[in-house]
Amino acid sequence: MLLTTLNSIGHTNGALAAIPSVPVKKSPHGMVSRNYQKEDTVIRFGNTQIGGGSFSVIAGPCSIESVEQLLETAHAVKSSGATILRGGAFKPRTSPYSFQGLGEYGLQLLSLARESTGLPVVTEVMDAVDIPLVEQYADILQVGARNSQNFSLLKKIGLSRKPVILKRGLMTTVEEFLNSAEYILASGNTDVILCERGIRTFETSTRNTLDLSAVCVLKERTHLPIIVDPSHAVGLRRFVKPLTRAAMAVGADGVMVEVHCSPETALCDGDQSLTPEDFSHLMKDLGIMSAFMSKLS
Ligand code: PEP
Ligand code: MN
Repeated sequence: MLLTTLNSIGHTNGALAAIPSVPVKKSPHGMVSRNYQKEDTVIRFGNTQIGGGSFSVIAGPCSIESVEQLLETAHAVKSSGATILRGGAFKPRTSPYSFQGLGEYGLQLLSLARESTGLPVVTEVMDAVDIPLVEQYADILQVGARNSQNFSLLKKIGLSRKPVILKRGLMTTVEEFLNSAEYILASGNTDVILCERGIRTFETSTRNTLDLSAVCVLKERTHLPIIVDPSHAVGLRRFVKPLTRAAMAVGADGVMVEVHCSPETALCDGDQSLTPEDFSHLMKDLGIMSAFMSKLS
């Protein structure tokens, strides 16, 4: 019956043979699963690592705006102890009239900040056509929440040899999130860092709802490192510090925090960006907490 239908719309057996085959599943629970790999994945690049007991702090502006803005912020976060610099050059904005990012020029500025501070850098890839370009400048590629289930992008990111931060989609369950990561691993890239960045709920008092229980659930189900982005989860600067502390307390492998040298003039996400001073206080708290946590059973 199916063959008759295919023949009637002009498909031959030869055309059918050209349909790409489904990759062989390596484990009944997927390569992301703890059943597939018991020990935690540790992602090493340059002089740093994510996972394996370290707590990584990724910090920087939402968007790269200018050489002055980026360098001032980058040096500030570095001097407070951030281990990786973030900054967006391709921005997924809700409105087409909002600042869309500086594109390749932004990437060039990011690479300047990388040279100037020695910090590895992470930046978002929005479109698969930009992967080769972004790979030239970034140490880590980021897949944003809105692309978390863009399966064709995930398959192509899986062909890259750069580590990937995969953000949880606004409306994705933990199971769906793991399936998105599986797409990347199944295409050959096993260096995936999961990022819980808040999900949409009925609650409107914060930008999203930070799902910290997902960190515990993910730690049980997968060997991949898990970081938390409190900035996009909560959307309000004054709540970023307590939620960052909570992320460390719950056992995340790190955080990604937005910091801007002048949040009131930021072109994107100023309300949720910490000042360099806020960030320095936060880093001191994390130092105290991590010493305390090392004594916990
Ligand atoms: C970002 O990190 O700049 C960003 C746009 O985050 P998200 O994709 O989580 O909204
Ligand atoms: Mn942002």
